[in-house]
Order: sequence, then structure tokens, then C-alpha cells
Amino acid sequence: VIIPPFEIDFKKAIKIINEKGYKRILLQIPEGLKNHFTKFVEHVEKETGAIVNISADPCYGACDIANSDIEKLKIDFVIQIGHAPFPFIKNYIVPTAFVNAIVNLDVSKVIEKAIPILSGNKVGLVSTAQHIHLLNKVNNILLENNIEAFIGKGDRRIEKKGQIIGCNFSAATDISDSIDMFLFLGDGVFHPLGLKLSTKKPVVICNPYTNEVQKSELDDIKDMILRQRYGAIARSKDARIFGIIVGSKLGQQRIDLAYEIKDKLDSCQKESYILISNNFNPANLEGFRNIDCLVSTACPRIAIDDYMQYNTPIITPVELDIVLGSKKWDDYRFDEILNP
Ligand code: SF4
Repeated sequence: VIIPPFEIDFKKAIKIINEKGYKRILLQIPEGLKNHFTKFVEHVEKETGAIVNISADPCYGACDIANSDIEKLKIDFVIQIGHAPFPFIKNYIVPTAFVNAIVNLDVSKVIEKAIPILSGNKVGLVSTAQHIHLLNKVNNILLENNIEAFIGKGDRRIEKKGQIIGCNFSAATDISDSIDMFLFLGDGVFHPLGLKLSTKKPVVICNPYTNEVQKSELDDIKDMILRQRYGAIARSKDARIFGIIVGSKLGQQRIDLAYEIKDKLDSCQKESYILISNNFNPANLEGFRNIDCLVSTACPRIAIDDYMQYNTPIITPVELDIVLGSKKWDDYRFDEILNP
């Protein structure tokens, strides 16, 4: 199915459905593609004769794995669009196929534009699931220009070499000591920002949609986010009652970390409660008015991206250590879910 600029290839998923004779399918669609649901349903139903149901829950990442609820609805098979699977998850309650939404763009213009900034340096290449297949092309262009490029493997949360996700930059940290700077192929600032905060290396953003190359702009955004995080930490210093957020999605569960945090808070004579939910948002937490500070062990993006939406300061586990004085602001790093 082609929804410009995305190409979504259902062939493998359709083959499995037909071979296994699956009759009831659940489709998980990322937010940006949800309004095209009719095209996906039509295509899969036509090729398989199965009934395709649509998950109306948000689907932000490969961590959003449909769980035991759907087994009771007699769903035989799940198709999740737009994300690469987590290799560490071997068994799904209901068999699941991940169907990437790739973008095929000519990267030569934007990379050639970046070459003057890159030359003389050793460069680490990273991207997101949508553009990861283009990294070899980027590598070849750099080689032709005598620029040495490195692509990291990443840990057990990373399927494709060079892939970074909002909660895991291991494909970058793997090679960080061998390189001078990173080239991020893609759009948006969240991933390059996490990359910069995780590796402390300069990042050049090559946007293949606009052919723009950005470097210094990211420093301004980094400073703005760090100011915001500093504010959140300062607002949490006098907190008495803490809520520790635990995501129940299979790819987000950090319950052991939550218990560790609770122990730390106990030893500092702070009251704390563990809050578990499949989908955290400000409305779900509105009723917990006497909580002074939320510590998120769920998706690291909640504290960073959605900070302004919460009335209560929401911080990451690393930031809590700074609040409690066991780490210094200079030790600040981005929260990641590593090697599960
Ligand atoms: S935990 Fe957050 S950043 Fe990681 S895959 Fe899930 S939605 Fe993406």
C-alpha cells in the first residue's frame, strides 16, 4: 500500500495469514497513518479473506504490543504497522507481524550538502525505522568522498543496524568512542536530541524530505530542553509524595526499577506510590492531586515530550537521583530502556 511518502509492504504478513488460515486480524496503526485505515483494511481483507479489526488504542512504538485482552476477543493474528520489532521479545501472546512503513527518497543531495561539515571526521550513521534502509546508500556516498563511516549494532531492543528509537540509542553509544560526530538521517528533533544527550557528540541532521542540513539549531533546542528539565528537577526538590509511573506495555515494563526507586525514596523518608497503566496521559493522572512529583519509568518520552501537559512535575529516574542528591546536574543523561 502506498501512502506518499510511505510504502507499506504487507506481503509477508499476508503470506503468514494465508498459510496459517488466520481469520481474525487486529491492525495496530501509528497515529500519523490512522486516517488511512480503510486502505489497509481493504488490502488485507482482499488478499486474505480474513476480518480485519482496528485497534483504537495509541500505537507509539514497538513497545505497544497488543496483550492478553485480544486473545479473549479471539484475535488470531496482529499486524503492527510502522515499527521494527524488539528482538528480545521472542513470544507474543497472539502471533504478531511488524510491517515497516518505509520512505524511499533520494538521499544524495542532502548528503552532498553535509559533506563539507563532515569531511576530516569519522562519522557515525544513525536513523529511524522509516529510513534505515537508506543508510547503506549514505555510507557509499561518504566512502566516495573519503569519509569513514561507522554503523553500530545496538542492543537487544534494536532490530536493524544503525537504528535509534526514542528510548534506546545503543546503536549510537556502541560506536561513540570511535567517531567524531553523528549523522542522523531523518526528520524531527526528538531522536537527534536524544542522540546528542546520550552520546554528548555533535549531531548533523540530514533531512531527506527538505534536503536541509542542520547542526547548530539542535544546540538551541538542547539548551531549551535542558532548561526545562532543570526546572522540573528544581520543582521536585520539596516534593513529599511521589508517584512512580510503571508502563504495563510489554516493551515498557520496568517494575524492578520502580521498586528500586521506591526503596530510594523510603530511605530519604519520602512517601511514594507505584502507579501502573497501559497508557499514561494527564487525564488518567488528574485524580491523584496529592502527588507532588511523578517519576516515570514508562516511555522516556512522556517526561520530555509531554512535560507541559502535566500540572505535577514529571521527571525521569536519572533526574530523581539529581533531586535526591545522589547524582549531580553535570551527570545528566537521557533516560533509556537498555538491554531488557
Ligand atoms: S517506550 Fe517510547 S520511545 Fe520506546 S518504543 Fe515505546 S513509544 Fe517508542
